[in-house]
Amino acid sequence: MWSQNWREAVWSQLDREFDLIVIGGGITGAGILREAARAGLRAVLFEQGDFASGTSSRSSKLVHGGLRYLKNAQIKLTWESVHEREHLLKEGRGLVTPLPFVMANFRGDNTPGWVFGLGLTMYDFMALKWNHASYDTAGLRELVPQLSSPEMVSGFRYFDAQTDDARLVLRVLQEATKDEALALNYARVEGLLKTRNRVSGVAIRDLAANGRTMEVRARAVVSATGAWADEIRSQASARALSQGVGWRARLRLLRGSHIFLPQSKLPLARAVTFLHPADSRPVYILPWEGVTLVGTTDVDHKTIPATDVRISQAESDYLMEAVKHAFPALGLTQADVQSTLAGVRAVVNTGKSDPSKESREFVLWNESGLLTVSGGKLTTFRLMAQKALRALRLALPEHPHLGSNERVLDPLPPENSLCDVPPEFRLRLMGRYGAEACNLVEAAQPGELQAMAPSPSLWAELRWAARNEGVVHLDDLLARRVRLNINLPGGGMVEMEKIRKIVQPELGWNDHRWEQETERYRQMWKDYYSPF
Ligand SMILES: Cc1cc2nc3c(=O)[nH]c(=O)nc-3n(C[C@H](O)[C@H](O)[C@H](O)COP(=O)(O)OP(=O)(O)OC[C@H]3O[C@@H](n4cnc5c(N)ncnc54)[C@H](O)[C@@H]3O)c2cc1C
Repeated sequence: MWSQNWREAVWSQLDREFDLIVIGGGITGAGILREAARAGLRAVLFEQGDFASGTSSRSSKLVHGGLRYLKNAQIKLTWESVHEREHLLKEGRGLVTPLPFVMANFRGDNTPGWVFGLGLTMYDFMALKWNHASYDTAGLRELVPQLSSPEMVSGFRYFDAQTDDARLVLRVLQEATKDEALALNYARVEGLLKTRNRVSGVAIRDLAANGRTMEVRARAVVSATGAWADEIRSQASARALSQGVGWRARLRLLRGSHIFLPQSKLPLARAVTFLHPADSRPVYILPWEGVTLVGTTDVDHKTIPATDVRISQAESDYLMEAVKHAFPALGLTQADVQSTLAGVRAVVNTGKSDPSKESREFVLWNESGLLTVSGGKLTTFRLMAQKALRALRLALPEHPHLGSNERVLDPLPPENSLCDVPPEFRLRLMGRYGAEACNLVEAAQPGELQAMAPSPSLWAELRWAARNEGVVHLDDLLARRVRLNINLPGGGMVEMEKIRKIVQPELGWNDHRWEQETERYRQMWKDYYSPF
């Protein structure tokens, strides 16, 4: 997709007028670009860092209806999310996978078990499936033997789904670019261009190479900049701002953090959810890509983030308290934490004292010709994209109406049409690389069709991503194309010589550049992904 010289190829096409400019290369921007390309619009996306380097690689990796939203009576959000989950499960095989859950109730929980039973009945009703059942303590322990707390009283099993969030963004972007859309990472929008006081383009700076700049024009501009959306909005409304009227920051930034334990310390075959003993917020503990994810917190984040954000000690303690509550016999402590991950979500600020009570529904704001799409969920990206494009109908009246029964992801080639992809990796590679899975396997050198255990990613994926997936920095490769920053102890630093042999020639970096990039990654891991 983004093979040699792709940046120059994209840059050389920026002087034409586009139908649509998308600012932000997370799942929201990727989804809008994908739907715009499907509708035949000439569209281009600019991302200031790496694709998915914002919140979209920092989620809890769930493709879910969101049971907790039912608790807050956000029925529409849950209904839409369940519907999208079902689409993604069907179309994203290998990338979006079913995840069996156990919901455990403990003595002292502030919500009685039957309320969850009611919620799960609604959940299944929305998906037109009957996929949950209630269990007593013995039944729950049969499902998850590690649930050792004597305080556990009953529970349920049900199903949701999970994904690799950064790979989902990449897959959606890849499908958009196959349909002629353009996408550029490390291209920051530094200003909005206006014609008769309406936004009609953007000024971008290339942060990957020489800092060159360019003005790009389009009939419509969408900001899908998540936690950064108020910054861009303030530029759209600069005149009103200078007169002190008409503009105000509208977003509240909430940080959510995770800790990851090695699966050897907490091996789970199903996800477990329960109410945190301290504040009754739902927490999840789930198996993901060779590690066990524990999340999440929900606290105010006071500053507009640089892309990387760090978990606080208090959050890490809070999550470990949850682990100890459900799995006391394992004797786990902070010393068992392998890695951490924090992200910031934007919600509309209504000033609620409890951050978790703020709505997670997405918003669309049209200001001076700039459409802002913010909030929402990874799960509902396609729906958000369609609604955004509908809101642009005045500027783009000819684009066709795409219904909610259209595909979310492109069909994969039939499994048996794939060359020699080893059967044990076939579905996983197809989900991540689509028809390119075959080329990935063919490009592999001896010994590279093996997992980088405990991560399930193959060594061959490193070679492929370095060659074809728009990698600018080493962390793009190790934190988002594959997820070694989370899935390997120490972020995979001990494997660096082996990684180097595979990727340095592919990236065409000299030794000096390699040293710089390794140091940048090492420092980033220490600052943002390491345990306390
Ligand atoms: C802790 C946590 C857990 C979550 N878990 C789940 C979950 O399990 N399931 C689920 O469905 N949802 C989940 N969500 C929600 C989901 O992750 C977000 O809704 C989604 O990732 C937001 O995507 P986005 O594209 O809007 O924002 P982002 O992914 O943040 O993308 C915005 C992008 O805009 C770029 N940008 C900003 N300014 C500029 C500029 N000037 N020029 C160019 N680019 C710019 C940023 O660099 C960034 O990459 C979770 C959220 C959090 C915080």
